[in-house]
Amino acid sequence: MKLLVILLFSGLMTGCRGNSSYSLPPKLLLVSFDGFRADYLQNYEFPHLQNFIKEGVLVEHVKNVFITKTFPNHYSIVTGLYEESHGIVANSMYDAVTKKHFSDSNDKDPFWWNEAVPIWVTNQLQENRSSAAAMWPGTDVLIHNTTPSYFMNYSMSVSFEERVNNITTWLSNSNPPVTFATLYWEEPDASGHKYGPEDKENMHRVLKEIDDLIGYLVQKLKMLGLWENLNVIITSDHGMTQCSENRWINLDLCIDRSNYSLIDLSPVAAVLPKINITEVYEKLKNCSPHMNVYLKKDIPNRYYYQHNDRIQPIILVADEGWTIVLNKSSSKLGDHGYDNSLPSMHPFLAAHGPAFHKGYKYSTINIVDIYPMMCHILGLKPHPNNGTFSHTKCLLVDQWCINLPEAIGIVIGALLALTTLTCLIIIMQNRLSVPHPFSRLQLQEDDDDPLIG
Ligand SMILES: [Zn+2]
Repeated sequence: MKLLVILLFSGLMTGCRGNSSYSLPPKLLLVSFDGFRADYLQNYEFPHLQNFIKEGVLVEHVKNVFITKTFPNHYSIVTGLYEESHGIVANSMYDAVTKKHFSDSNDKDPFWWNEAVPIWVTNQLQENRSSAAAMWPGTDVLIHNTTPSYFMNYSMSVSFEERVNNITTWLSNSNPPVTFATLYWEEPDASGHKYGPEDKENMHRVLKEIDDLIGYLVQKLKMLGLWENLNVIITSDHGMTQCSENRWINLDLCIDRSNYSLIDLSPVAAVLPKINITEVYEKLKNCSPHMNVYLKKDIPNRYYYQHNDRIQPIILVADEGWTIVLNKSSSKLGDHGYDNSLPSMHPFLAAHGPAFHKGYKYSTINIVDIYPMMCHILGLKPHPNNGTFSHTKCLLVDQWCINLPEAIGIVIGALLALTTLTCLIIIMQNRLSVPHPFSRLQLQEDDDDPLIG
């Protein structure tokens, strides 16, 4: 009992020390490498990233949201919402009421983003705090009339080093201090599309470059004295799967183009009928055995992808590795966007810093769980969201959690202790009891052993 009290007390003390050791207010840098499929970590070497993980935490799979595309998932990370709730439901969208179009090169209208409040806005509403961003989707848009205090207009030609230099300068020298920062990089997504994830040689080269960039980032943070007190999350929006020209679904073979507008193409096509919806649906329904065709009302609940006007009346979902085309070639050897229950669509998450445990591995969280965790680290009150804070408790030093193997260990340990205790009590009782002169005789009477009988 004494031991238990001491253990509990020392645990509490450690918890308190954990809290006070990070300088106030806590700071967080959120980094995304686009299209970093979870199992790249097992299949390729990442010396710098593995060092980062060794001193921090790793979540091997992050279950992202449907559709598994870049803009939607990046917005889910920073809002904790499913796509139907935050409104960025695809990389290409059309709003039938306002007749507005959205694409990754035409994304600056706040109209598209204002259905949710990203964490960089919430962070800046706190007294004496600012946010900074190097090209995370949405950070160069006036969302709820606010941009991060420091941000870069999106341009894919700006190098990773320049993005890191800006972010680290802002994290070092700003007043009010930058407490939340984001950093985005287009690889390995671009190469994943170009070569396909099964092209080991090219992917090896690209992933080594990414690991070197992580090395550069960590070195820079150390050099500027930011490393020890900064919480850093490295994650991604989605994975990547191999495609092939032998797996094309040609819509032109099933329906005339004059019958519909195609808002988004592959692997989840968004179809806006120009004629009767049922007629278009009937033509598409049996177009390919490798494609599911849904009327909006029949989209499976598990996708959380229905209740938003920007989701079109019919969506087509290709099977993994299949590409929806319009009677023309597609040069993509890799793609994403598919069913979010496919492991190939999942990214990973690694984190390091005073808020996180050291050397801890965890199997799965949801991408929407990242937001409440980040709010907790920064001491922000989260907006209503679809994430679950308790899913990430095991990653954090100031939270108490038991994972399944530990729980099983504790139960088995308790049972063993109880059994041992019971045995000991029985043995002691036998030893202490006064010897009974007739007991041995009685035992022999009951014994069936023929040698004795
Ligand atoms: Zn992509």
